[in-house]
Amino acid sequence: MERVFNFSAGPSMLPECVLEKAASQMMNYENSGMSVMEMSHRSPVYEKIITEAESLLRKVMNIPDNYKVLFLQGGASTQFAAVPLNLLVENKTADYILSGQFSSKAYKEAQKYGDVKAAASTKDINFSAVPTKESLQLNPNADYVHMCFNNTIYGTKFYYIPETGEVPLVADMSSCILSEPVDVSKFGLIYAGAQKNMSAAGLTVVIVREDLLGKARPETPTMLDYKTMADNGSMYNTPPTYCIYIAKLVYEWILSLGGLEEMKKRNEKKAALLYDYLDSQDYYVAPVEKASRSMMNVTFVTGDADLDKKFASEAATNGLVNLKGHRSVGGMRASIYNAMPYEGVEKLVSFMKEFAKNNPKK
Ligand SMILES: *Cc1c(COP(=O)(O)O)cnc(C)c1O
Repeated sequence: MERVFNFSAGPSMLPECVLEKAASQMMNYENSGMSVMEMSHRSPVYEKIITEAESLLRKVMNIPDNYKVLFLQGGASTQFAAVPLNLLVENKTADYILSGQFSSKAYKEAQKYGDVKAAASTKDINFSAVPTKESLQLNPNADYVHMCFNNTIYGTKFYYIPETGEVPLVADMSSCILSEPVDVSKFGLIYAGAQKNMSAAGLTVVIVREDLLGKARPETPTMLDYKTMADNGSMYNTPPTYCIYIAKLVYEWILSLGGLEEMKKRNEKKAALLYDYLDSQDYYVAPVEKASRSMMNVTFVTGDADLDKKFASEAATNGLVNLKGHRSVGGMRASIYNAMPYEGVEKLVSFMKEFAKNNPKK
């Protein structure tokens, strides 16, 4: 079988040149006589990899000096607990903006640790849009505000950054990190599972403002205390060494293309191709409100569950795989992260046209 266009929401496609480079270095990394997977994380050759990974990410995202970059494990889901353990410490109240399933999970987890409030929710419209700026009920005494920047399952994103004043803003950016420039200084903390837009599953990146460190609750597991990890350069224990190496190759790739401004242009062009087609016809319906459309995850339905099923299976035989929507939404979802080439989306749109022609609705 040839390589396919993989529209999976995550783990998802990686740039081919990254995979090729990793393959070429698999058996003997830079004359070390071993694979990166086999190296001690304390060896000088590995120290160089993790140090470079951090400085490349700082360069790509233009991360200010008063922020720490942490390479952790446990997925974004572990951050749902780590965030309150570290930050829900002063007034023990926080505001959560509910824009989908992951932010709702984060909210539920945080409720174990304090008086956590929903600042807004779009659950009543099945999360087909993100809450508006005007709808946010923010408490000035909250320890932090939590949001999910791009809602992977529903295919929505925020086009504004909530104004939280002195209250630190915490953002789950698992499915949009590195897709476009972000002003890191607007956030107290950003976290992202790496398996969508950065690396393989097993790595979680946390970018945290230094003044938020060192306040964790006494019962915080050592492994979840950001200060432990910051003080030890993400090497309190063995970090996910290979995933960090792959992330480094991805950061190099992004820089070689021209950085996040260029990435954004490419992503906008891919998303526009798909949304413009969706808007030009009435066979498929895009359930998300236009003002909230994600650039990374595009959802659509035929309105007929059997046709949806047929669509996903025929697409797969045409080399367009993992288009089935999340079980909570149904229909289709095309995840078109950084590594999805423009040609993949072109091929998807021609398949959609073909399918609509061959499968008239009754
Ligand atoms: C995938 C995803 C998660 C869950 O990530 P894990 O690494 O599997 O824990 C959380 N939030 C968002 C926005 C995601 O896309």
